Amino acid sequence: MKLAADTLYHAAHATLLALGSEPDEAATVAEHLLAANLSGHDSHGVGMLPFYGDSVRAGTLQPNQPAWLLNDCGAILQFDGERGYGQRVAREAVAAAIERVGHSGIVLLTVRNSHHMGRIGSYGEQVAAAGKVGLFFVNVTDFPQPLVAPFGGSAPRFGTNPVCVAFPAGHSEPPFILDFATSMVAYGKTRVAWLAGEQFAEPVMLDAQGRPTADPDAMHEAPLGALRPIAAHKGGGLIAAVELLAGLLSGGGTLQPGNARDGGIVNNMTAIVIDPEAVSDLDWLRSEYDAMAAYIRSSPPPPGQPPLQLPGEPERRRRGQRQADGVEISDAEWAAIIAAARAAGVLDTDQWPQPQNG
Ligand code: NAD
Repeated sequence: MKLAADTLYHAAHATLLALGSEPDEAATVAEHLLAANLSGHDSHGVGMLPFYGDSVRAGTLQPNQPAWLLNDCGAILQFDGERGYGQRVAREAVAAAIERVGHSGIVLLTVRNSHHMGRIGSYGEQVAAAGKVGLFFVNVTDFPQPLVAPFGGSAPRFGTNPVCVAFPAGHSEPPFILDFATSMVAYGKTRVAWLAGEQFAEPVMLDAQGRPTADPDAMHEAPLGALRPIAAHKGGGLIAAVELLAGLLSGGGTLQPGNARDGGIVNNMTAIVIDPEAVSDLDWLRSEYDAMAAYIRSSPPPPGQPPLQLPGEPERRRRGQRQADGVEISDAEWAAIIAAARAAGVLDTDQWPQPQNG
């Protein structure tokens, strides 16, 4: 079904309030979820609400936790999320880094023990909008079992460990926002495909016997398989590097089995935020970015292919489109969101659009 942005925002905001968030927190998290849907990343949009509801009830997600400052040491800022909504915790921590980097030129920011931070590109957009450069490395702990196989293995050992590199706008070129899971697809995309009864175009997973498969059943029906890391041995190295950078430097830990797994999604983040003015002339930097972006764009696409895009561009285009036309969500996903709202105690769900086959 196609749902308007306002409908999705209302569903998220009402459910988050009913789950115990104060209004500001509910608004911050609902805005993040809606922006993920509008950007085309439904995996990190309002479809997360059923999981968040279960997590609040299980005590693995704690509403109304800010980013708690643990260590403030010049160019180092370290926070603990106390299992609060990551969309709030990470946003607050990144805001603190943006403010600090104006004085220190560079900030090493860590956040540990935050609940799911959602779409990491949103923090890239936050630093880019403030004219700063950002590198983000995030690992995932606490999930009942790992999701991604190491390169050369078949049993999962990692979360989907996203990486984001953000660069502010040039004079004419919009910000560069590279933001991806280090698995061939984000786990949430397997949920969306599974609920919609769709297969992937390529074998992005291994089944429980270690055979490549495009069928999302591999991640949602026992016996479970694993997602595959991106880019063969290079992606296999990158996903392990992200586990170390995010898990160790934040103090939040890794997925090694000596650490507790309580069944939520905990994200730990290590980020480097840079003020480009501290290292370069801003006008030159913007012009050079514009010139390089134009040079990249001038590479003609192979025959029959659409014009190339730069990172961040697909999300910007989809935001314009979906804001105008609405967001396509499968009946099963919307039915699960309505059920989650009811379970949280939202009273007006009868007045929401109803799924045809839900
Ligand atoms: P993806 O495969 O869609 O890749 C997205 C990146 O590639 C973006 O930077 C996008 O602009 C760029 N891109 C996509 N198509 C392009 C094209 N044709 N040309 C040029 N650039 C293009 O994303 P993904 O790996 O499925 O990740 C989806 C989201 O999941 C991300 O926002 C990520 O942060 C999030 N995620 C979060 C967690 C978590 O634990 N919080 C874990 C994994 C992923």
